[in-house]
Amino acid sequence: MRKKLIAGNWKMNKDIHETATLVEQLKNSITPTIQNSNTPVDILICPPFTSLVIAKMMIKEVPLKLGAQNMSQHEEGAYTGEVSAKMLKSIGCDYVILGHSERRQYFKETNELINAKSKQALKHGLTPIICVGETLEEREAGVTEDIIKTQVKGVLSEMTSDEVAKCVIAYEPVWAIGTGKTATPEQANQVHQFIRKLVGQLYSWTVAEKLIIQYGGSMNDKNAAELLSQSDIDGGLIGGASLKADAFAAIVLAGMEVAKE
Ligand code: PEP
Repeated sequence: MRKKLIAGNWKMNKDIHETATLVEQLKNSITPTIQNSNTPVDILICPPFTSLVIAKMMIKEVPLKLGAQNMSQHEEGAYTGEVSAKMLKSIGCDYVILGHSERRQYFKETNELINAKSKQALKHGLTPIICVGETLEEREAGVTEDIIKTQVKGVLSEMTSDEVAKCVIAYEPVWAIGTGKTATPEQANQVHQFIRKLVGQLYSWTVAEKLIIQYGGSMNDKNAAELLSQSDIDGGLIGGASLKADAFAAIVLAGMEVAKE
């Protein structure tokens, strides 16, 4: 059985002081839930770069994992303003979000670049959470599967089966991110099944069955249980609701309840 992964993408929110407050609130809301349950759910927070160290120091004793929201495809050197995989690993990150639609849209990140970053993350023992998703125009034009296929093939290009099995894919329909519009559980699950089948064809069914595929797009404490109970939805990548400790804790709890069934 695949372990659910509930991840908070804080985006460009929370300075170091605000981070300390939110992490403290999260610890208070989430750790009693974890201690009272044996259900396996991985919980991840992805604050901005400037908050990673303080967050890491504060979560040492609790079962929260740490991830970044971006990194360089390069090893090291003259790349002013960039942060490397080695740097993230050295401060205790286990994950990195790559190719988020906001990075694709505002920073013109391509599948090729996201592929290079993902390989670099894997090389340093970081799990890339690779985001894919169609725009509203693409969905309405009926080309969702074509878009997803191109993105998945592109971001996983020239990876070995072992490497693909170590990746996480986040299906995030662009029209559902930060808009309050959620894909219906059936709509989301259909795309998740499409991605899993595609990975099965490109690599193997063993890899596809292991692959964690998260849903992202206005997931909240009200809709999480239904989304997370779908056969191929293995967790959530949560933006807005991850900035509220109670809402994020409720999503974690929903994941645990579903995993128990
Ligand atoms: C995201 O940014 O990955 C996201 C899913 O945001 P939101 O939950 O706010 O839609």
